[in-house]
Amino acid sequence: MESSDIRDELTDILVTEKEIQDKLRELAARIDEDYAGKDVLLVGVLKGAVMVMADLARSLCGHVQMDWMAVSSYGAGTKSSGVVQIRKDLDSDLTNRHVLIVEDIIDSGLTLSWLLENFESRGAASIEVCALLRKPDAAKVQIDCKYVGFDIPNEFVVGYGLDFAERYRNLRDVAVLAPHVYS
Ligand code: 5GP
Ligand code: MG
Ligand code: MG
Repeated sequence: MESSDIRDELTDILVTEKEIQDKLRELAARIDEDYAGKDVLLVGVLKGAVMVMADLARSLCGHVQMDWMAVSSYGAGTKSSGVVQIRKDLDSDLTNRHVLIVEDIIDSGLTLSWLLENFESRGAASIEVCALLRKPDAAKVQIDCKYVGFDIPNEFVVGYGLDFAERYRNLRDVAVLAPHVYS
């Protein structure tokens, strides 16, 4: 694939940069209120959540710490395999911590349901989820996600951290990848 004009490889822009930033500020205000007086451990799920983490964290006023976990359930394709693999574990001990998992997108929910179970066994005081995007029509398991940015249709999206074969993460908006790119 030639890297000519990226815009030709996208169809609709589903969420614009401005909408993302406004929403993250709104979610951050709620999080600040809910965690007032507590230290929060933000756990970003690499690599997709890097942009959400960077912008959400900078909108928070309270004390936060950040840690990262890398898991994979997708490979280079566009469908979840359901098999979750830890590529990089957390550096932090979760015992008695207030953990807020920061995710780019909840699709089937399989990755998060696995992560939630895994984190619960590590003795956290509380565990919540913040996801920028969610595809309700793709859910295979129900995830209790306290902070959701946008519900989107069941289409493969890229941008703002989300990739296809490691490309498109640098786009500022969230857009639908044109089917001709992956079919
Ligand atoms: P799930 O386990 O909920 O199906 O999704 C696991 C991960 O797959 C997400 O955190 C995300 O990194 C990736 N993923 C799910 N849906 C999409 C999508 O529409 N576009 C991209 N680029 N990644 C997705
Ligand atoms: Mg993710
Ligand atoms: Mg990916």
